[in-house]
Amino acid sequence: MNTYSYAIDGKIYINLTNRCSNACDFCVRVNDSYSEHSLWLDKEPTAEEVINSFQKLDFEGTKEFVFCGYGEPIYKLQEIIEISDYLHKRGKKVRLNTNGQGDLIHGEKVAEKLKGYIDVVSISLNASSAKAYQEVCHSEFGEKAFYSLLNFAKEAKEYVPRVVLSLVDVVGAEEIAKAQELCDSMGIDLRVRKYIS
Ligand code: SF4
Repeated sequence: MNTYSYAIDGKIYINLTNRCSNACDFCVRVNDSYSEHSLWLDKEPTAEEVINSFQKLDFEGTKEFVFCGYGEPIYKLQEIIEISDYLHKRGKKVRLNTNGQGDLIHGEKVAEKLKGYIDVVSISLNASSAKAYQEVCHSEFGEKAFYSLLNFAKEAKEYVPRVVLSLVDVVGAEEIAKAQELCDSMGIDLRVRKYIS
């Protein structure tokens, strides 16, 4: 069964694709057993199918909607815009969780396209250097993925009200400290997330 949206802790999460330009060591998608509750999609949804899927959830009672995994949502930029427009017209907040590689994925700048549609963008930093990032995330774009995500983060600050970079705590204290320094130099908040295996 295709799960296009699901609710956790008062938020509705939107699942647009299995695709990702990374293959992170810690990714549940990479290690999924395709269980009954798997978020693996047989088919990527249209914007309309996602909006229809909200009907089985507490749409009215939910304030925040989040584009997140299974895969990397930015592949579905047009659907993100259409769904966000629908949500904003109904007074909902929209967050985008992304690996920040949208410019490389689409071959053009994407930050400006989010203007007026996304309220918060959370970008997975995952490491403090291009080399360390590639060792963990194995981007199909190689080490330039890291530089591209930093650039996307800087540009997103101009178009999105709140931008956050995030890191999972398994990288260790030294990497976290270096990542904090990097984020401070960019004027962007760092959120250290607990690793969920
Ligand atoms: S960026 Fe996210 S979806 Fe992509 S491989 Fe890494 S953890 Fe998985």
